[in-house]
Amino acid sequence: MSNIESHDLIVIGGGSGGLACAQRAAQYGAKALVVEAQRLGGTCVNVGCVPKKVMWNAAQIAQALHDAGDYGFELEIGGHDWSRLKAGRDAYVLRLNGIYERNLENRKVGLVRGHAVMTGPRQLRVGEQVYAAEHIVIAVGGLPALPAIPGAEHGITSDGFFDLPERPRRVAIVGSGYIAVELGGVFAALGTETTLVLRQDRVLRHFDPMLSDGLMKVMRDEGVAFADHAVPKAVHRDSGDATLRLECADGRLLGPFDTVLWAIGRDPNTAGLGLDAAGVRTDAQGYIPVDRFQVTNLPQVYAIGDVTGQAALTPVAIAAGRRLADRVFGGMTDRHLDYRNIPTVIFSHPPIGTVGLTEPEARAQHGDSIKVYTSGFVPMYHALTTRKPRAEMKLICAGPEERIVGCHVLGAGADEMLQGFAVAMKMGATKRDFDDTVAIHPTSAEEFVTMR
Ligand code: FAD
Ligand code: NDP
Repeated sequence: MSNIESHDLIVIGGGSGGLACAQRAAQYGAKALVVEAQRLGGTCVNVGCVPKKVMWNAAQIAQALHDAGDYGFELEIGGHDWSRLKAGRDAYVLRLNGIYERNLENRKVGLVRGHAVMTGPRQLRVGEQVYAAEHIVIAVGGLPALPAIPGAEHGITSDGFFDLPERPRRVAIVGSGYIAVELGGVFAALGTETTLVLRQDRVLRHFDPMLSDGLMKVMRDEGVAFADHAVPKAVHRDSGDATLRLECADGRLLGPFDTVLWAIGRDPNTAGLGLDAAGVRTDAQGYIPVDRFQVTNLPQVYAIGDVTGQAALTPVAIAAGRRLADRVFGGMTDRHLDYRNIPTVIFSHPPIGTVGLTEPEARAQHGDSIKVYTSGFVPMYHALTTRKPRAEMKLICAGPEERIVGCHVLGAGADEMLQGFAVAMKMGATKRDFDDTVAIHPTSAEEFVTMR
């Protein structure tokens, strides 16, 4: 068995969680190896947060240019060069790929390029080479889901969005979650006729209703169309001009569109990974269940990040990976990630920041002891502009001490506003603590400490 290469830790997947875990383990002196089948950085860097945020920035600029006249600027906009934006974005991502590779070298983490197949609980192969480790971390992430309907292949997913060589003129986005509203916002701000196709009647159904109502209103005002109660049945492609029409279960035919984009969630990326051979258990959706220490059904085999089916966010994968390394290689015996009160931002236009319980969740958990404070207003920036997107804010407090259990905001600046409030909530802040904090004026954030 001399051809088996042995390590203290092998991480399958060089994305957000895997890289964080391997590097932290190496800092403790572990001999760590990352196996990555594609580009380093995973979903977030290559087809997720990073290129998405670049597109969000572009859309923000488009809106600012629209507002500029109201602030006295005399501008002539010659148009927008999508391909130039894409080239800049792709070059940035490529730079990040290089930086990630150098980071591994600097931290003495081994890297194997290729698709890992588990052949036993703590053994895997990449091509012909077999590797074994004391500890294996599965951090393979997810892939965009496609609906099982005829013509689904005519649509693209968020992965395909980042490949688009030019901006489509008319787009349908099927879905109502993060990706649908984020990419819908980008398309609309850059001038694409955008239709969001919803199975039910609202976007972001699992978030506080104030956020989904408020965002839908702003999106409508900005020209986004919504097709509600529209369950896709088939996609038809015109053999002449290649335009697409979306047939719904109730007989409606939506379109024509140049692009149909599926944003209906993600599936765990475990095909061909050999989980069965290794004996790693998955749930009905194919996710790998773990305990609070990220341990699968097998000892010393762990899963982190999107493949666990828990909050599918980059900082969550990173935090789980680092804490796991702290525990296994750093001697911090009880170190684990607390999945409660994870703050999250939806990069819509305007953005949403949210942490803690929604109002319906708070009522279900705390009954009549909750007190809800809200504020809705047109931010001062828009006092001068023809666009008047409103901001909406909500604090949900529980118990006689009015502990903050939910903090929700839609509006310009929400993305940068939330982090500090999430710290306060993590520390157990009460409404009184918020009231006792001196406001910062003039901002939208000050509403959170002046609510009555
Ligand atoms: P990934 O980052 O997906 O990494 C998994 C890696 O494993 C991949 O590189 C893959 O190639 C590799 N791999 C898979 N199978 C194998 C195998 N058998 N052998 C070798 N390698 C393998 N989150 C945020 O927090 N903020 C955002 O703004 C945000 N925006 C997003 C926008 C989009 C469009 C998408 C799709 C996601 C976004 N996310 C965002 C979510 C975020 O990208 C993920 O939660 C995060 O990347 C998950 O990290 P991970 O380590 O679990 O998996
Ligand atoms: P989401 O889970 O956010 O939303 C998908 C929604 O699409 C579902 O909630 C459902 O809403 C609807 N849907 C599901 N199946 C179908 C179907 N067959 N036909 C029509 N609609 C359907 O998934 P996304 O793909 O938007 O994003 C995946 C994950 O990536 C997110 O959950 C998030 O964790 C992460 N992400 C994070 C971002 C961030 O941090 N800013 C940005 C982008 C992604 P309904 O039941 O109401 O119909």
